[in-house]
Amino acid sequence: MRLIETERLTKVYQREGRWFPSANDAVPAVDRVSLHVEKGETLGLVGESGSGKSTFARLLLGLETATEGRLLFGGEDVTRWGFKRLRTIRSRMQMVFQNSYSSFDPLFTVERIVGEPLSNYGGMAARKRRRVILESLDMVGLGAAYAERYPHELSGGQLQRVNIARALVFQPELLICDEPFSSLDFKLRRQILTLLEELKIRLGLSYLYITHDLSSVSRFCDRVAVMYKGQIVETLPAARIAEEALHPYTRALLDAVPVQDPRLRRSKTGRPVGEPALPHGESVIQGCRFCSRCPAAMPVCTTVEPALERKRPFHHAACHLYANEAEGKASQTFQIVKE
Ligand code: SF4
Repeated sequence: MRLIETERLTKVYQREGRWFPSANDAVPAVDRVSLHVEKGETLGLVGESGSGKSTFARLLLGLETATEGRLLFGGEDVTRWGFKRLRTIRSRMQMVFQNSYSSFDPLFTVERIVGEPLSNYGGMAARKRRRVILESLDMVGLGAAYAERYPHELSGGQLQRVNIARALVFQPELLICDEPFSSLDFKLRRQILTLLEELKIRLGLSYLYITHDLSSVSRFCDRVAVMYKGQIVETLPAARIAEEALHPYTRALLDAVPVQDPRLRRSKTGRPVGEPALPHGESVIQGCRFCSRCPAAMPVCTTVEPALERKRPFHHAACHLYANEAEGKASQTFQIVKE
C-alpha cells in the first residue's frame, strides 16, 4: 500500500529583482517528480547538494506549495489542501533534521524540546503530555533523567536521539530524515542507523531518507531514487545499486563513495567531467540535464530529454544509453565512449 505518492510534482521559483521576468527566470527546484513510499518501506533519496531533495521534502510536508502536479497521502489528494486541513496529516509525517544542535533552543530543556510539537498543536493535558514525552525519550534510548538536561549537556549522538524523540511524539507513520548523520562520526552513525531500524520494526514506520552519502543507502534503504537538478534520473532496489546502477550520474556518485563499504568499491569509471551542476537558474535546457558532465554523452542527449523508463524489473532510468537497446549493447556503448 502506498503511504505517500507524488505525480509530476513541480516547484518553480522565480528569480527576484527582475523588472521583466523571462522564462529563464523560472527556477525549477523540483521538476515533474513522480515517486512513492510504500507503507513500511525506506526510500533513499540521493543526490548532490542543491539537487532539490530538501525542497521535495518540504513539498511533502506542506511547507511549500507545489507549482504543478499532485501529492497523495494515504490515497487522498492533499495537493490543494489549506493550512488548517493539512495540519491533520502533518502530524502523521514528521521530519528529523540534519543539524541537531542548531535546531534546538539552548535555553530549553530536553522535555520542552521534545514536547514542542505537542504545544504547537495544543489540547493535551499536562500529565499526559509528560507521559508522551518520556515514552518518546525511552524509545530512543534516553531515560527520564535526560528530560531536565539542556542541549549543551548532551553529546552529538544524544542530541540526534532527542531530535528523533521529538519527531515521534505524534506517533507518525512517515519519518522524513534529512541528512540525519551529517554531523556524526562513523560510530555514532551506525548507532543512530541501528536505532532507526529498530524503530521501524517496533512502530511500523516508513522512512524517506535524504542523503548525499551512498554508503549508508544499501544497508538502510529498501529502494533508492537518484535526483539530479530537480529530476529523478534512476530508481532501483537499494541492495542492487552497487552492481546494477545504469545511469552515468549514479555510477559517478558510487565512484565518489569512500570505500568503507566494500560492496560499494568499484572501478573508477563514468566519473562526470567538466564543471559541477549548472546553476538552477539555467532552467530552459534541451535534452539531458547531465549532458555537460556526462562522459558518455551522445548527440541525441543535447536535444532530447530522456524519460524515466523501466529498464529491468523494479529498475527505472532516464538515459538514452539504454533506450531501445539490449542491455549488453548499451553497456558496451558506454565503455567505448569513455575510452
Ligand atoms: Fe549521459 Fe546522454 Fe544518458 Fe544523459 S542521456 S546521462 S548525457 S548518456
